[in-house]
Order: sequence, then structure tokens, then C-alpha cells
Amino acid sequence: MFEIAIDRDACDGIFACLARDGRFVEDDDGLATIDPDAAGVVSVERTDERVVALLEGDAEADDDDATLAARACPPGAISVREVDA
Ligand code: SF4
Repeated sequence: MFEIAIDRDACDGIFACLARDGRFVEDDDGLATIDPDAAGVVSVERTDERVVALLEGDAEADDDDATLAARACPPGAISVREVDA
């Protein structure tokens, strides 16, 4: 499993992430979040500061969409890391 975290204080709402990974969507504040109904998404928790999503699979592959989204994010607001199941 892996975790995608979005720093909502850093997110600028330009949505480079949405073009790289279809699991990223716009929330009601105009910032990025993860679609809880997208394939492989186990959970999504949102606070004022962060969105943390838990997903099935392996994020370490170079071509993983979430990794591409993190690389494309201008302020570096997205982090992706492996977590224990
Ligand atoms: S690319 Fe980064 S800053 Fe832009 S909307 Fe996505 S998470 Fe926010």
C-alpha cells in the first residue's frame, strides 16, 4: 500500500496533478484532493492542513501516476510513500 499526502497550505490550485493522475480532483475549496471513489483508493482523510489518502498497490515504480503528479507539482505539495498494509 502507499500513501499520497497533499499539503493544503502549499497547494496553489493550478492542478498540474490532475493531468498526471486521474485520482486527483478539485475539492470545494479549489484545492487538490483524492477521489475516494477512484480505483484502488482505500481511504481519504482531510484536515485544514492536509489530505492523506491510502491506496492499494506500489508507488515506487517510476511510471506510477501519483509519483508523476508529485514531480509535476510546482510547490512540491504532494508526497508519496510506501506504508505497511
Ligand atoms: S499540482 Fe500541486 S499545487 Fe497544483 S493543485 Fe495539484 S497538489 Fe495543488
